Amino acid sequence: PLVLGIESSCDETGVGIVRGTTLLTNTVSSSMEEHVRFGGVIPEIASRAHLDAFVPTLQESLHEAGVTLEEIDAIAVTSGPGLAGALMVGVCAAKALAVATGKPLYAINHLVAHVGVGLLDPRPGQDGKPDAGAAAGLGAGQLPENLGALLVSGGHTEILRIRSITEDVELLGSTIDDAAGEAYDKVARILGLGYPGGPAIDKLARQGNPKSIRFPRGLTQPKYMGTAEEKGPHRYDWSFSGLKTAVARCVEQFEARGEDVPVADIAAAFQEAVVDVITSKAILACKENGITDLLLGGGVAANSRLRELTGQRCTSAGIKLHVPPLDLCTDNGAMVAALGAQLIMAGVGPSGVEFAPDSSMPVTTVSVPA
Ligand code: ATP
Ligand code: MG
Ligand code: FE
Repeated sequence: PLVLGIESSCDETGVGIVRGTTLLTNTVSSSMEEHVRFGGVIPEIASRAHLDAFVPTLQESLHEAGVTLEEIDAIAVTSGPGLAGALMVGVCAAKALAVATGKPLYAINHLVAHVGVGLLDPRPGQDGKPDAGAAAGLGAGQLPENLGALLVSGGHTEILRIRSITEDVELLGSTIDDAAGEAYDKVARILGLGYPGGPAIDKLARQGNPKSIRFPRGLTQPKYMGTAEEKGPHRYDWSFSGLKTAVARCVEQFEARGEDVPVADIAAAFQEAVVDVITSKAILACKENGITDLLLGGGVAANSRLRELTGQRCTSAGIKLHVPPLDLCTDNGAMVAALGAQLIMAGVGPSGVEFAPDSSMPVTTVSVPA
């Protein structure tokens, strides 16, 4: 099926078009620049930006794919989780398109779509051969039997088990406070590195010594972890707010002593703490739940150290790691279209046009039933 996907859950307005598992276009407009001076995404600004960007993004996507709205078989839209006002813009646009064209509409879970994107075929590169690193390697349309997904972004840090992408997704663990990307952004602010903080810390950390300071790994004490037999209450969960506080304290202490703040060392030590605890808990969850293939997604998947350590630890644990190309890891419309196509191919019916966006849509709801 030819599916148009719409994404507007945060600060990216995305429209993507797929034919089955073939990616035709992925057009994204981001309002990131408008949030820079506030040091974080301002929901009201993001919603207005979606309103401005939607029609041009749609037109560009259709134009690039060389298809018309009439030719589209179905429309898919992110209906949650995300910022309520931002979701509303994409959902209203999708409903209007569906009503005007008479096409079926699928209301889709954003987090599951991050996994669904891994099912797209490798893109041809400029030389006609598959784009190096473009394939997540999940196999077109066919998921590995024991698949897990580690989603790490500005809004989410979650480990999922996917038995079936269209009907059986389970949340094994998640952050109980800040998301990992949020922690990067907050720490970057403390260190005076600006917004978004992830790329800045990633870069600066290369000049620092990650072992110079030991920052806490949240929820790793025995009372939270328990044992393999008797699992503690937060065995596969993360917490990053204590880490952020520890960084703030550390900076204060250097300042109180009148010393120069070793910003690169702090960045490196912070990054090591985040990446160490994300990967150790994710791998533990995989091992204890029979997961043999792991997909890494979300904007923080751009992080060089996260990629490196996840790769190393997956290799040691005998887990096959799949990382989609970066433009498909961050929020985009193609992932929504990709999951929509999977639902259609699995015979799942559309959602109708009565649904409302749900900012806290649970990951177990892959798409909204009619
Ligand atoms: P959602 O949580 O809904 O998926 P989002 O817009 O918050 O959406 P993304 O766009 O996927 O998340 O990712 C943005 C986040 O990724 C920001 O918090 C940013 O700091 C972080 N990030 C980007 N590049 C890097 C990097 N190299 N290292 C660490 N973090 C990064
Ligand atoms: Mg974003
Ligand atoms: Fe996302």
